[in-house]
Amino acid sequence: MPKNSKGREIAEIIPAKCIGCERCLAACPVPEAMTMEGGVAIIFPEVCIGCGRCFDACPTEAIIFERVRKKKAAKPEAAGAAEAAASVDGHKGVAVFIEVYQGHGAEVSWELMGKARELADKLGTQVLGFLLGHNVKPVAEEAIAHGCDTVYMADSPAFQVYLSKLYGRAVAKMCQQVKPEILLLGATAMGRDLSGVVATILHAGLTADCTGLDIDMEKRLLLMTRPTFGGSIMATIVCQNQRPQMSTVRPRVMKLPRRDPGRKGEIRTLDLGAQADSLPQVIEFMPKAHEVGGVDITKAPVLVVVGKGACDSRHLPMLEDLARLLGGAVGCSRAVVQAGMLPYVRQVGQTGKTVAPSIYIGVGVSGAVQHLVGMQGSDRIIAINTDPHAPMMQIADYALVGDYLEVVPRLIKGIEARLPSLKGVSS
Ligand SMILES: Cc1cc2nc3c(=O)[nH]c(=O)nc-3n(C[C@H](O)[C@H](O)[C@H](O)COP(=O)(O)OP(=O)(O)OC[C@H]3O[C@@H](n4cnc5c(N)ncnc54)[C@H](O)[C@@H]3O)c2cc1C
Repeated sequence: MPKNSKGREIAEIIPAKCIGCERCLAACPVPEAMTMEGGVAIIFPEVCIGCGRCFDACPTEAIIFERVRKKKAAKPEAAGAAEAAASVDGHKGVAVFIEVYQGHGAEVSWELMGKARELADKLGTQVLGFLLGHNVKPVAEEAIAHGCDTVYMADSPAFQVYLSKLYGRAVAKMCQQVKPEILLLGATAMGRDLSGVVATILHAGLTADCTGLDIDMEKRLLLMTRPTFGGSIMATIVCQNQRPQMSTVRPRVMKLPRRDPGRKGEIRTLDLGAQADSLPQVIEFMPKAHEVGGVDITKAPVLVVVGKGACDSRHLPMLEDLARLLGGAVGCSRAVVQAGMLPYVRQVGQTGKTVAPSIYIGVGVSGAVQHLVGMQGSDRIIAINTDPHAPMMQIADYALVGDYLEVVPRLIKGIEARLPSLKGVSS
């Protein structure tokens, strides 16, 4: 085992076995102790503290570290919480990756900021924001207004558009420098992609599409709950040994916190060394699916959701009338998408969109768990169903038992009578 001038045993790289995955760099708690040269990891002996984390992280046995190997062999079966906590020492704070879309912070980031605030208060720690972009100081200020204590910002033309590798490395570097214990990201197209890249670089655990987040106060662990086995059960997942504990959450799952423009926080600038001219150029963006179809069901204040029991295109105009009358939109269950009556962008549920309208009206929707996880945050739930025992009828605030072809026209008539000023809208 080589030693440095302080007599500290340090790890040694076997260049022939190194695959250049950079996991050792991600695991190293002293960023200047390691680097990559020609695709091979290098250790600076005088900076290395001999902790052996690079050895633990290496997937190809390209690192020799005897002392740690002996210690590992002597380790008892159940390592226990205390030991797990030791390996995650120094990591503090609940971080949110702030997604920027067309110069503005994505709403899901503010929803996560609200949840992060709650988690951080339980842990007695800070809410941190990780922000990448160009000219994004106003977004950092928004983050503070939504509950963030410190925003770490890397502002560069290189970050103008999202690129997996660039953003992935940058956020991983932010994690190495700031050392948050938790990192939350929106389960959006960007967040899903980015979280995977960051988790791979950091060798961290990632739980996708969580519907609930809480803290195990005894062990200081993040409890990440999500549907599993096709939505038939809810699993609560913990990540004991790696930091940050990473989770993605879909838009509209968490409540949007109250915005306080007078709230004070800190903005710290990080130089992550990204060079715009060395990057691929983005020529054109494909518009989002709802921008093509004209309807974003996640934003509708009222949603009339068509289920298989009302899956008849001859009567769709009637349901659209009901939605329009209430200033809302039409969504549907997966059964209706599968029947080809409405497009996927209208689907509510686990594999569709998560919605939380002020009023959700389920028409002929049974309330399968995979559907419920996508709409249970709605403020008021109205269900129309011939079966009074359907699960949707059990969770509804108002359960209307009957054939939708009889109930919906009466509902429209009643609403029109109460809202005479809107009468013309449905025609
Ligand atoms: C991995 C996985 C992911 C899934 N993801 C989703 C998802 O994202 N979203 C989703 O919706 N589903 C999803 N599903 C499917 C889900 O399990 C159900 O099959 C689906 O939600 C059922 O849709 P439904 O309620 O419209 O139809 P059904 O379950 O068939 O219910 C129809 C309802 O209509 C009522 N009805 C019949 N006639 C009338 C009438 N004339 N008037 C009034 N009521 C009437 C019936 O009593 C019944 O309750 C998923 C399944 C799996 C396995």
